[in-house]
Amino acid sequence: MTDARYAVFGHPISHSLSPRIHAAFAQQFGQVVDYRAIDAAPAAFDAAVRAFFADSGHGANVTLPHKAAALALADEASEAARRARSANVLTRLDDGRLAAHNTDGDGLVRDLTARHEVDLRGHDALLLGAGGAARGVAWVLLDAGVRSLTIVNRTPAAADALADAIGEPGRVRTRYWDDLATIGSFDLILNATSAGVLGQALALPTALVGSRALCYDLSYGEAAFGFLAWARSSGALFAFDGLGMLVETAADAFALWHGQRPDTDAVYAALRG
Ligand code: NDP
Repeated sequence: MTDARYAVFGHPISHSLSPRIHAAFAQQFGQVVDYRAIDAAPAAFDAAVRAFFADSGHGANVTLPHKAAALALADEASEAARRARSANVLTRLDDGRLAAHNTDGDGLVRDLTARHEVDLRGHDALLLGAGGAARGVAWVLLDAGVRSLTIVNRTPAAADALADAIGEPGRVRTRYWDDLATIGSFDLILNATSAGVLGQALALPTALVGSRALCYDLSYGEAAFGFLAWARSSGALFAFDGLGMLVETAADAFALWHGQRPDTDAVYAALRG
């Protein structure tokens, strides 16, 4: 590893597990990484990022509420970032320009398929939410083989915009939040809303949960408690939070910056413990 600096930008950011995760990854290669959490209010984000990269910054993770701003300030963007219309990774290229990437979708699918050994092919999936995280994972779920994707968002226009952008009317549909009680059951239910982190409860009907359903909350820790409790009490076969996704997305960023993919299982187990 080099003297280059790394960081995660967010607001607030003190809760972030990213410095701990990247330190643990670096340790696997016998290295120490200079990776800090930087709190930047929205008005200060652009200048803070540019100052970081001007002062030997090589890579930055970006979290709420800056993911759209991160894409906007980058000079180039991967297909995943363009699709999601947001970036959670910024990398300084050799010529000084900034490249934006989004690892949310790959991280979720790797957590589901590699860690939890789920074969996504043929699943009928319900995606709750249509914000940055939902946009990051929707295409990748389809690429991974889910049979159908039903997108339901509190504000219907955002769900419609996401479905239109994907453009697969045979596999992707939207429904109103008020219709959740009557749209049938699903075998994969993903909570990509920020209700949990905002301390708000989602009133979800039990009937959504199919007999062998897997329910997954992209948030983790206390923020996921309500959704996971609802899933278990509704008869879900599996109920997972997004901690594994977080570790996988971090590993993708680490690999991008350092050219080596760390082992995620040990870090996941340590965080879970
Ligand atoms: P955004 O702010 O971009 O989107 C928030 C979404 O939640 C919108 O669809 C919004 O609906 C919906 N929402 C908020 N409150 C409610 C509510 N009370 N009832 C119903 N819907 C609600 O956030 P992100 O998409 O970036 O993040 C969403 C979640 O995903 C967060 O909890 C975040 O922590 C988690 N996440 C986890 C990752 C991981 O690695 N594990 C990575 C990325 C995100 P509306 O459009 O109506 O406002």
